[in-house]
Amino acid sequence: MLHRLDLETDKRQELEAVFQKHGFTDYKWINPREIVVSQWVRMKCMYGCGEYGRNAACPPSVPSVSECAQFFHEYRTAVIFHFEKKVKKPEDRHRWSPKVNLKLCKLEREVFLAGYQKAFLLFMDSCGLCDDCGGTRAECRAPRVSRPSPEAMAVDVFTTVRQAGFPIEVLADYSQKMNRYAFLMVQ
Ligand code: SF4
Repeated sequence: MLHRLDLETDKRQELEAVFQKHGFTDYKWINPREIVVSQWVRMKCMYGCGEYGRNAACPPSVPSVSECAQFFHEYRTAVIFHFEKKVKKPEDRHRWSPKVNLKLCKLEREVFLAGYQKAFLLFMDSCGLCDDCGGTRAECRAPRVSRPSPEAMAVDVFTTVRQAGFPIEVLADYSQKMNRYAFLMVQ
């Protein structure tokens, strides 16, 4: 079921002008009640992902799944940004995503300064801003700009973005086009 957005049209248009200015044109507004948070996502982080315990913006350096659900519950308006990319090898993805995430950080800052004090970004990939991650929040080398990904916040990205009308598929290898998503929590 789709829920009504809780941000007036003129305010949305003002923010859309900011998105445009930063070069982000592929996005959808959503009501955060449509963000699906699931325990299975955290299990995938804990068992099968090499970043668990090594990336300071990934589990276990994130809130519990129930705290993540509470976090999303506190918002009434959010935006999903869509990014497409094909890479030849895994390292190429990790060269591309920090650049996009840093640009998104600037966008988050501008939305905050526009009067949205709760503005909070979820990166479109695990935080890879540093070559050598500190591994814990206390040892994060860039805590002002480091953000968790939606997956680190236990978001079932597949279900959530499909519901919003975006494409996403399980990829069998790196030669296939990726569809990646950042979330901007607005208010
Ligand atoms: S900013 Fe650097 S140290 Fe902090 S989580 Fe990201 S990669 Fe790790």
